[in-house]
Amino acid sequence: MSTRSKIDVRCECGETFKADIWQSVNVTASPELRDQILNGEMNVVTCPACSRRFHVEIPFLYHDLEGREWIWIYPLSYEKDAFSIYQKVHEMWEDVKRSVPMKIKERFEKEYRVTVLFGMDALVRYLRSKGDGGEG
Ligand SMILES: [Zn+2]
Repeated sequence: MSTRSKIDVRCECGETFKADIWQSVNVTASPELRDQILNGEMNVVTCPACSRRFHVEIPFLYHDLEGREWIWIYPLSYEKDAFSIYQKVHEMWEDVKRSVPMKIKERFEKEYRVTVLFGMDALVRYLRSKGDGGEG
């Protein structure tokens, strides 16, 4: 399931406002969300005060059930903490596996690619490199 919630966003102009921000996207259930990512529209907001459009950088989960991919995208600025983030993501993945029956857990371990990428651009590059960028 894809989830989004209202979070406080702060614009460079000083305005703070609430915006709907995706925190978890399941692109198998909602393929249009992958298009949003590829088009650079995921988590882009417009400031009500100055009309500036910008991308809100928060960690989010990209889950491709069909493609067996479980990818966390962290803001580029977090890259210096890559080691602890990898650890954290690994722990979250362990929690996921603990929550499912043994048979499914085994499949998860065999089939899933679990990784972390830094910055939305890295995700876009990754998706394009797989050749499913959706641009003829
Ligand atoms: Zn603004």
